[in-house]
Formats: sequence, structure tokens, C-alpha cells
Amino acid sequence: FLKVSKKKITYEDDKEGVLFILSDVTFLKKLERIRSDFVANVSHELKTPLTSIKGFVETLKDGAIDDKDIAIKFLNIVEVEVERLVRLINDLLYLSEIENVAMPILEEKVVIEEVMTESIELLKIKAEKKNIQLDVKVQEGLEMNIYRDWLKQIFINLIDNAIVYNKENGKVWVTVEKSDSIVVIKVKDTGIGIPEREIERVFERFYRVDKGRSRKLGGTGLGLSIVKHIVELYGGKVWVESQEGIGSEFTVTIPIGKKADLHQ
Ligand code: ADP
Repeated sequence: FLKVSKKKITYEDDKEGVLFILSDVTFLKKLERIRSDFVANVSHELKTPLTSIKGFVETLKDGAIDDKDIAIKFLNIVEVEVERLVRLINDLLYLSEIENVAMPILEEKVVIEEVMTESIELLKIKAEKKNIQLDVKVQEGLEMNIYRDWLKQIFINLIDNAIVYNKENGKVWVTVEKSDSIVVIKVKDTGIGIPEREIERVFERFYRVDKGRSRKLGGTGLGLSIVKHIVELYGGKVWVESQEGIGSEFTVTIPIGKKADLHQ
């Protein structure tokens, strides 16, 4: 995209001329599009559960409330939708927090094993419900400089997906170890896998391979974009290798001593 602007100029000998300025605004246009796509996505994601809540509330008011069984069923659906809205708003707030360069605390010395134990504690029941075995190995005494809550968010988002997109009686392997001066986090599952053509896209905001399934499972489509954002803030990388029907392996690498780059 080129923007053309015109400027009248006067030369030293008083002759007049016109100066045409061509500026490349491709980047700005792209940014504008990303922004408006984001707003459209957010509006859609908020509207879907709200429409559903409104529908069930109206049906209840129109008489369904008199049948206790139906009323409870509808109220349960309303509750699930409200919970999903809360999760979505939390994820959105989280994204804006990460993107806010003025965050006061960005690094602290963190014992990785402790953060992992806290994260697993939150996900244990979810794994048990599907009879999924969690095999977690963190290199003993491993420490790194990172904002503790963000490391926890990386663990939770990756392990939660490994449970959610897994099969009943499946398995999840988590390893964290140091290789040279890099912390390598791996989360592997025996889940449904990701089709090859979608692999690059799963880190995009709101992208889901199967929108219906993700929504039903309570997904917001923001988890992996949050992981990517945090990891890149610390100069790291995240990628996934996957085979449909067999499973996926997410790898995160974060350089240990590097300071967070707030201007990227
Ligand atoms: P969601 O809230 O939908 O889980 P994420 O950003 O965490 O959003 O993930 C984006 C999409 O990537 C998911 O909807 C799902 O289709 C796919 N995905 C993520 N993790 C896995 C996994 N471990 N196995 C299979 N598919 C996955």
C-alpha cells in the first residue's frame, strides 16, 4: 500500500513546484486490519454465548420454568455459558496485560519445579475425570528469571490443552530441562492431533481447528496465542509437532539469562 501526498514548494529562484511524496503504509494497513479483525472476533465470541443465554432465559420466562427438570437443565446451560464468558474475558485481560509494556514486575528468580507443582495441582482433577495419566519430570533445582505467573500460564495452557484434546485413558508427558543456557519445556499427548495444514495457525488468536468442539470443551481460542506472546517476550520460541489421531508435542524454548524484550 502506498500513500500519496502532495506538497507545494517554492524554489530559490521563486519558481513553484509540486512535490509528490510516496510513503509505504503496508505495515500500518496490516496493523489496522489485525485490529479490526480482532474487534470483530471478540464481538462474535461475546455475542454467541450471550445470544444463547438470552434464548434460554426467554424460554424459561415463557413457561419452561414450571417444569423443574427442564428449568434446571436450562439453568445449567446458562451457567456453562456464563463461565465461558468469564474465561474469555479473563483471557482477553491476560492478553492485554502481556501486551502492556508498562508492567511493573517482569522477572523474578523462579524455581521451576514449584511452579509446575502448583500448575499440576489445578489440572489434576480434570485429568482424573478422563482417566488421563500425567507424567511430569522437571530437572531438579532448575531456576530461571521469568515472571512467575506467566510461566504458570504457559504450563497451564499447554497441559490443559493436552488433557482437553486427549482421549479417555490417554497420557500426557511433561518435561522441563536445561540444555546449554536454554530451558526446554515439552508437553506431549496421546490426543486427537492437529492436521498438518492447521499447525501454523493454532497460535493465532481465536483460531481453533474445530470451533464447535473447542467451544463445547470450554475453549476460548486464546490459550496458545497467550503462550506464544509470553515466550516471545523472553526471546524464546514455541512450536508443535503433531500427527492426527496419534498426538501432539508442544516445545517451548526460553533462553535463561536473557532480559525480557519489551519493545518487540
Ligand atoms: P482453545 O481455547 O480452543 O483450546 P488454544 O489457543 O489453546 O484455544 O488452542 C487453539 C486450537 O489448537 C484448539 O482449539 C485446538 O483445535 C488446537 N489444539 C491446541 N492444543 C492441542 C492439542 N494438544 N492437541 C490437539 N489440538 C490442539
